[in-house]
Formats: sequence, C-alpha cells, structure tokens
Amino acid sequence: MIAYKHCRRRFLQYATVVALATATGPLLAQESGTMSKEEAAYQDEPKNGQACSACVHFQPASNTCKVVKGSISPNGWCNQFSPQL
Ligand code: SF4
Repeated sequence: MIAYKHCRRRFLQYATVVALATATGPLLAQESGTMSKEEAAYQDEPKNGQACSACVHFQPASNTCKVVKGSISPNGWCNQFSPQL
C-alpha cells in the first residue's frame, strides 16, 4: 500500500509538471518582436519571391515574428527579411 501511494504521488507530481509545461510552452513561444509593422514596412504579401515563411525570424506555430510586433502572415514580407539557410 505504501508503494502504491508513493507511485501515485510521483505520478501526480509528473502530471503537474507536464501540464504546466504544456500550458506555458506555447505562450513563451508566441512572444513577438518589438518593431512596428510601419517601421519594418511590413506588407501582407511576398516581395520579389521573399515571404515570412522563408525568413529566420518567422514563428509558424503562432504566426508571429521575433522582430516585428503582432500577427504575421506566412505570405507577408518586411525590410527585416533574412532568409533561412
Ligand atoms: S520578413 Fe519581416 S515580418 Fe516576416 S518573419 Fe521576417 S522579419 Fe518577420
């Protein structure tokens, strides 16, 4: 019986850690940049074959950017574009 209680306590501790990591992970990954769309000359369409989906700053899980503030389209573009290698 003692072993069962020990296992149950460990399982609950593990489940709590997993639940917290699951809940906060996506929030942390969604942080976007600080530059305004105006400053970055952001547009909702590609430019010269370049698009956010191919930029190192794009965060596809949240449609955000590490540089530019707010929601970003995978088909967008701005003057901070940096191609993925
Ligand atoms: S092109 Fe600009 S807005 Fe798009 S992901 Fe890259 S830095 Fe962000």
